[in-house]
Amino acid sequence: MRALLGLLSVLLAAPLGAQSALEIRFFNVGQGDAVLVRESGKSALIDAGPGSGAVIGQLRALGVDTLDIVIASHNHADHIGGMPAVIGGSVARFYMDNGLPTTTSTYQRTMAAVRASGAQYLNATTRSVTLGYARLRIMAPPPGVGDQNNSSVGVRVDYGDFHAILTGDSEQEELAYWLQHAEVPRVQVVKVAHHGSPNGTSQEWINATRPGVAVISVGRVNGYGHPSLDVIAAWEAAGARVYRTDITGSVVILAHTNGQFSVTTASRGVAQSPRTRAPAQRVTPTAPPGVPQPRVSPPPAAVRSPNCCKVCSAGQACGNSCISRRYQCHKPPGCACNAQ
Ligand SMILES: [Zn+2]
Repeated sequence: MRALLGLLSVLLAAPLGAQSALEIRFFNVGQGDAVLVRESGKSALIDAGPGSGAVIGQLRALGVDTLDIVIASHNHADHIGGMPAVIGGSVARFYMDNGLPTTTSTYQRTMAAVRASGAQYLNATTRSVTLGYARLRIMAPPPGVGDQNNSSVGVRVDYGDFHAILTGDSEQEELAYWLQHAEVPRVQVVKVAHHGSPNGTSQEWINATRPGVAVISVGRVNGYGHPSLDVIAAWEAAGARVYRTDITGSVVILAHTNGQFSVTTASRGVAQSPRTRAPAQRVTPTAPPGVPQPRVSPPPAAVRSPNCCKVCSAGQACGNSCISRRYQCHKPPGCACNAQ
């Protein structure tokens, strides 16, 4: 095992003198998850979305043909549906999942692709994977749980003073387990678990992580009622700015080792080609006291307004999010285009 960990460090370590910035790209894949983490030319993909072509198409558009490690948070189709295409269409060096098989054809095709690729399979034990100058701290799921969501692989991304945490579709039971058994620090960025479902957020988890930015990866039309407006309100009440991929499209975090980071969003659209993609806009989240502030670069109002509250059909507009009328909005007005 020690030899394997050493091998991981060697294979994924950054070339000398190549330090740049950490990118965390939350792809807009509709109802599902797919997150690309890049640093110093090294790449990790966490989940591959529901469709067969969306993520591999976006990886190709970005010029990413080698994935140093691919992690499936869990084996539901909205997270591994795109995995066979990704594994078959790129060079994947390591593959990790929660070790909990399913009987679905999507899972069978995924594992067949992993075996055919030659990628080395890794169990999701508590371990650290070096990705350039960043570290992926794997948060192992609790043992003996048969439920896929509550066996999601957690990933904490450490990059100097910058931290982010991604926990798949973990529900409150698994979040509580990690608060007991893993190191859960205050972070700058959280991927809200389970697409903003009420069972994927707890006040204890919010209190522990207290991010400046909370990203919800969710499809505009889904049958689950995701995301919960109360969940959005709870993260915002803790000082986080909430981004939803169904409203803003892909969300890209660019972070530096001093903790500074910026957020860029693209227009809504699944697997848009760069040629048809609307110009990206840079927005600046607010951060709670004590968290390093991202770079200040306010977007022009004319660019920002089309993405405001397009689906705010209930509750009240707050910033570019819709929240429950029971909560106080701490954001400046100006984004109430669709609120009722
Ligand atoms: Zn999911």
